[in-house]
Amino acid sequence: MTHGPSQEGARLPRSPWDSPAPVPGRVRIAVLGSTGSIGTSTLDVIEASAGQFSAWLLAAHRSVGPLLEQARRLRPTWVVVVDEAAAAGIRAGDLPAGTRLAVGSAALAELVAAPAVDRVVSAIVGAAGLDSTWAAIDAGKTVALANKETLVMAGPLVMRRARETGATILPVDSEHSAIHQALAAGRADEVRRIILTASGGPFRTRPQHTLAAATPEEALRHPTWSMGPKITIDSATMMNKALELIEARWLFDVPADRLAVAVHPQSIVHSLVEFVDGSVIAQLSPPDMRLPIQYALTFPRRTDGPARRLDFTAGMTLEFEPPDLSRFPAVGLGHRAAARGGTAGCVLNAANEAAVAAFLAGRIRFTDIAEVCGQVLDRHAFSSEPTLDEIRGLDAWAREEVATWATA
Ligand code: NAD
Ligand code: MG
Repeated sequence: MTHGPSQEGARLPRSPWDSPAPVPGRVRIAVLGSTGSIGTSTLDVIEASAGQFSAWLLAAHRSVGPLLEQARRLRPTWVVVVDEAAAAGIRAGDLPAGTRLAVGSAALAELVAAPAVDRVVSAIVGAAGLDSTWAAIDAGKTVALANKETLVMAGPLVMRRARETGATILPVDSEHSAIHQALAAGRADEVRRIILTASGGPFRTRPQHTLAAATPEEALRHPTWSMGPKITIDSATMMNKALELIEARWLFDVPADRLAVAVHPQSIVHSLVEFVDGSVIAQLSPPDMRLPIQYALTFPRRTDGPARRLDFTAGMTLEFEPPDLSRFPAVGLGHRAAARGGTAGCVLNAANEAAVAAFLAGRIRFTDIAEVCGQVLDRHAFSSEPTLDEIRGLDAWAREEVATWATA
């Protein structure tokens, strides 16, 4: 095989059995987006670790109440509030002794690079997560990456920077965590195909002609996963799988034509890797993000943890079906953007973020989300090797395009 994940992939997992034991002592963690769905699951893992992990930094946007409550429980060295107006209401006595407050995104980028930080959990939602994740990679940190948008927007730049600084990116996204685990069963040049599973979301069986009328409330009712609102809407449109195809393309350095999607309603098989001999290796566990989070925090080792477990002796049924590209055109956009590379991921991501916000605000219909994303993707000034500044510029351009479209 001439293509496939590159051999230089120290990015690819080594066999855990070959790996050195981790340095003893507490692993100090910076949790970016600690008040969100991934953030709170991360704190569950930290609190269940019997002192193996400690929270060194907790950061959120503007949910100051929950952040302060977390700070009192976990007693981090730093809390960071990114929104300055939200931080203005915090009084000295609100923080536990020993915890300091920093405000703004520049402070966050500086603190994630601090020598005291052993691992960074990147769990801010959307393009807003790029700068702090970049800062962590720039500083050579080990990053447990939930913020897939970082790789969708700037995959080649991020992976190159990680190679230069020695940073390690460990996926938290359940599909990519599954792939990371399955890849350990063979060599990079033995991989034939990577199959990402998708739950199919709340509209998996909903007739096409009723999709335009789908409401935000219906789209927010996910059958298997409990997640933040943005990614829950992305699951309903299956744009989440589009973003994940692009994420996998860069994270594992695998050509887009070796990536496929299978709908698996039970969300037990989190993804599969097919090797050249026809063997398929899958990773299975209940839909519980605490497991992939913990895996990214303990890798290359495994430990006991709080995630739910499967019981095969109780019996279960696992189903797989092909995605319906006519009802879920977003999946096709993902394949296209993954194949095209360059600025395609950034534009698709930004258009989607703006379209999801417009849908939640009642300004566009459910089916308009993929429609406007496709149009903006087609119209953008493509560049195959953009700089970070060009990516930021196109991100803003795509959002404006969607805003114009939504008000037309
Ligand atoms: P969420 O909406 O529940 O939480 C988002 C967090 O980010 C909050 O703590 C919020 O305060 C913070 N935040 C938002 N905007 C910010 C900004 N401008 N600056 C700083 N902080 C900001 O989101 P989530 O569901 O936890 O998802 C987080 C990331 O993880 C996303 O990239 C998502 O795609 C990814 N992810 C989530 C899941 C899941 O199960 N929730 C699964 C896989 C991947
Ligand atoms: Mg996922």
